[in-house]
Amino acid sequence: MTNLTTNSPTEELQRLDAAHHMHPFTCGSELTEKGARVITRAEGCWLTDSEGNRILDAMAGLWCVNIGYGRKELAEAAARQMEELPYYNTFFQTTHVPGLNLAAKLAEMAPGDLNHVFFAGSGSEANDTNLRMVRTYWAAKGQPDRNVIIGRWNGYHGSTLGAMSLGGMTGMHAQGGVVQGIEHIPQPNWWAEGGDMSPEEFGLARAQELEKKILEIGADKVAAFIAEPVQGAGGVIVAPDTYWAEIQRIVDQYGILLIADEVICGFGRTGNWFGIETLGIRPHIMTIAKGLSSGYQPIGGSIVCDEVAEVIGSVEFNHGYTYSGHPVAAAVALENLRIMEEEGIVDTVRDETAPYLKDRFESLADHPLVGEVKIVGMMGSLALTPDAANRAPFKADAGTAGFICRERCFANNLIMRHVGDRMVISPPLVISKEEIDTLIERARKSLDEAHEILKEKGLMEAGSRT
Ligand SMILES: *Cc1c(COP(=O)(O)O)cnc(C)c1O
Repeated sequence: MTNLTTNSPTEELQRLDAAHHMHPFTCGSELTEKGARVITRAEGCWLTDSEGNRILDAMAGLWCVNIGYGRKELAEAAARQMEELPYYNTFFQTTHVPGLNLAAKLAEMAPGDLNHVFFAGSGSEANDTNLRMVRTYWAAKGQPDRNVIIGRWNGYHGSTLGAMSLGGMTGMHAQGGVVQGIEHIPQPNWWAEGGDMSPEEFGLARAQELEKKILEIGADKVAAFIAEPVQGAGGVIVAPDTYWAEIQRIVDQYGILLIADEVICGFGRTGNWFGIETLGIRPHIMTIAKGLSSGYQPIGGSIVCDEVAEVIGSVEFNHGYTYSGHPVAAAVALENLRIMEEEGIVDTVRDETAPYLKDRFESLADHPLVGEVKIVGMMGSLALTPDAANRAPFKADAGTAGFICRERCFANNLIMRHVGDRMVISPPLVISKEEIDTLIERARKSLDEAHEILKEKGLMEAGSRT
């Protein structure tokens, strides 16, 4: 067989892709019809496709390329590590230098007594670790019945069986079943679910759903609560200001473990190193991945507090992955963190570019298709609506308008995702003010075009709010 190259004709690449390559979260037959867009190169915030188009990546890949594309230092760190020690494991009383250095570095960076790291190959794997770790923790403390974990509807914690069960994506639950002993409470999405409450009242009410659920299950049966500081894949849902303090009160009062899934929020995304700093949360465990290596290598992990680590350390935890703390991935993550620190990337986000992006992004609120605009640091969302004053959803199936808008963005060489009828952004943290201007211009143009299409197709009719 002949291998194709990035210089092969696009149709050939698409044909071979369609014949053999199964894509995640994709309807294969639809994609075969359309042909996948082939991304060939990337630099900074810009992708290049096989047709030579330059595309502004306002999603940082999948929320992960925090440092931007094309950093040679990361490639060199990988090459050096591959030559010195391409692989070794940390299972049977061995360790290696990149793994121990990265664990120590993360312990130094993470707030409070989050001082211990269990590595995984991805965010999903790390959350599977968390599921087993919190149950093992309570069993080791003589409370094996304390094994129920509470997550949130429309939360996202990954796609492996355990992580998917912790998440609250019903479309995922419906395919292949879920792990038992996991319960969900509703999300703090005021725009869609807040009814006639003020955001503040609603934030409190949604936090108190956790207390209700704990009492319903029995406080002595609940092991942990897991949540993203800001829901990412669920549509960049930012909880009302009253939410997190009340959640913290409840987990403290009932003595349950709090797992903050920082896979998106971590490593500068919210304008601080971790989302828990931005939102004032004190978890026992943090899930990390994505921005940890800026996506240059697959790596994730759980950063665990002293007490949980001590209890887990008192038993043999029969768990681990062949690639836990992979030395090449760890070396790349260390280099990524070194550059982010030395170049003050998170400071620049907090002090300069995120405030600028917020200002520009919020200027889209006057668009006739836009309702709520939410943004924290470098993650933001726009709720599309046919009737902003009433916070109305579209009468058409959820996601119809969002999909049309995303298609217009794609056509205008802007990567912006849709989650239902919310448009979301999460650009590389190194995006410049000039690139932010380009992002907003292209977004507005795409919104205009989507609006025209929706009107033409008679899709601007409002449905009723739930
Ligand atoms: C992406 C994501 C995960 C899953 O990470 P993978 O590396 O895709 O397995 C988990 N939690 C959150 C919050 C995520 O956004």
